[in-house]
Amino acid sequence: MQYQSTRSNLSGSDTFAVLQGLAQDGGLFIDKTLGEKPFDVQACLKKDSLGMAEMILSYLMPGFENMKELVSKAYTGKFETEDLTPLVKVGDAYVLELFRGPTSAFKDVALSMLPQLMTAARKQEGMQGKTVILTATSGDTGKAALNGFMDVDGTSIIVFYPAEGVSPMQQRQMATQEGKNVTVCSVEGNFDDCQRGVKEAFASLSGKLEGTGVQLSSANSINIGRLAPQVTYYFIAYAKLMAEGRIAYGDKVDYVVPTGNFGDILAGYYAKIMGLPVGRLVCASNANKVLTDFLETGLYDRRREFYKTTSPSMDILVSSNLERLLYYASRDQEKVKGWMEQLNKEGFYQVDAETLKNIQESFDAGCCDEKETAAAIGNVWQEEKYLLDPHTAVAWHVMEQKKPQAEGRPQVVLSTASPYKFPGPVLKALGIPAGADEFADAAKLNEVTGVTIPENLAKLQQKPVLHKDRIARDQIIDYVLSKVKE
Ligand SMILES: *Cc1c(COP(=O)(O)O)cnc(C)c1O
Repeated sequence: MQYQSTRSNLSGSDTFAVLQGLAQDGGLFIDKTLGEKPFDVQACLKKDSLGMAEMILSYLMPGFENMKELVSKAYTGKFETEDLTPLVKVGDAYVLELFRGPTSAFKDVALSMLPQLMTAARKQEGMQGKTVILTATSGDTGKAALNGFMDVDGTSIIVFYPAEGVSPMQQRQMATQEGKNVTVCSVEGNFDDCQRGVKEAFASLSGKLEGTGVQLSSANSINIGRLAPQVTYYFIAYAKLMAEGRIAYGDKVDYVVPTGNFGDILAGYYAKIMGLPVGRLVCASNANKVLTDFLETGLYDRRREFYKTTSPSMDILVSSNLERLLYYASRDQEKVKGWMEQLNKEGFYQVDAETLKNIQESFDAGCCDEKETAAAIGNVWQEEKYLLDPHTAVAWHVMEQKKPQAEGRPQVVLSTASPYKFPGPVLKALGIPAGADEFADAAKLNEVTGVTIPENLAKLQQKPVLHKDRIARDQIIDYVLSKVKE
């Protein structure tokens, strides 16, 4: 399978794309022929979750040998439930719980798989040297990636997170990470600064590292190996709705997705292109509603105030994966390159009417401010006794806004984190004062709601802090270079 850059005709195999992460020209790897080869959706829906993952990943990345074994190694025994992502009926809607993995983040679905893909790709490509994974995180990718790559042979991982931009629990998860091959560093800046620094490190270091045996790669959703595993749970949710008798095969289902870097929702678009009967893909943003504005008007404009919210993993103004959608909607690499350059230089771009129309054929958008987020958590707890985390609450609010347009189609809200990662804001949303200590807050939340604290979070309090590095945002490249030389 050939993967190609969104910005030029640079290309390589699927194993190559996974190892590289980002294309040399700064573009993202895409398969131009996606959807052309038939995919047996009905056969896929009859399988169990791991079977679906195997079939979907083999379709998207056929160059990998032994996908069945890779999937089994990635998931067996690692998630709270065998079906990976339970679907829970809440009111008239459904919540797809994506956070039942080892670090209580939806990122676990992909980051349990990526190290398997990376290791297999290294073997198939005959790589001898070391793969260094560079990762920028808005909170959850960092821990899930650290957990996935910890002590994986031939790899090391460096994670950058915004010093004041993640929740105390998320910070604690990363700072206590064990493993011989892991580095964690906070950056004085926001997520966009971290992401830009990492992309610049790719661009400026790839040449310098030639001959050292070190290859840089990425665990962010710019890596196709990170995006592809996320397609599976759109199928899982659909199969569960069929099993429940809520829908028959062919009926459309709407998915409402709390969105930051546009990776999660883009996987839903892939599912649709592969033939899953997807209705609307609804992009839900918090107060940083750059994507809501874009999807409504075609103008992407990051020149705006940046808000720090209670859903920090969505505090993003430069949404990387949108670039892949821009390609599929325009089929024009020159245009995509132009837009991305303009975004980089001037802070905005406007897509043409045709491209916007193509995007709006599949996507809707809505946003949710801080008050509405808290209200959603409070109301859903009051009325349904279901506890939402703030990211999921953003999507819940948007789901309610879009109910009339759903015209009876089931609405599935993707739930991206455990509420215990954000115990302070969740407590406050329930009308209970929060304290300064996240573990005391978590204990209180447990006492009030009776919802179980995930074991991986409960155990954190006893773990020693191992990582304290903190750098300015313009020091990322030098920091990477010094770590790679060690
Ligand atoms: C990463 C993340 C998101 C956003 O997902 P994208 O793929 O970046 O759009 C939403 N919620 C939580 C909790 C996350 O960790």
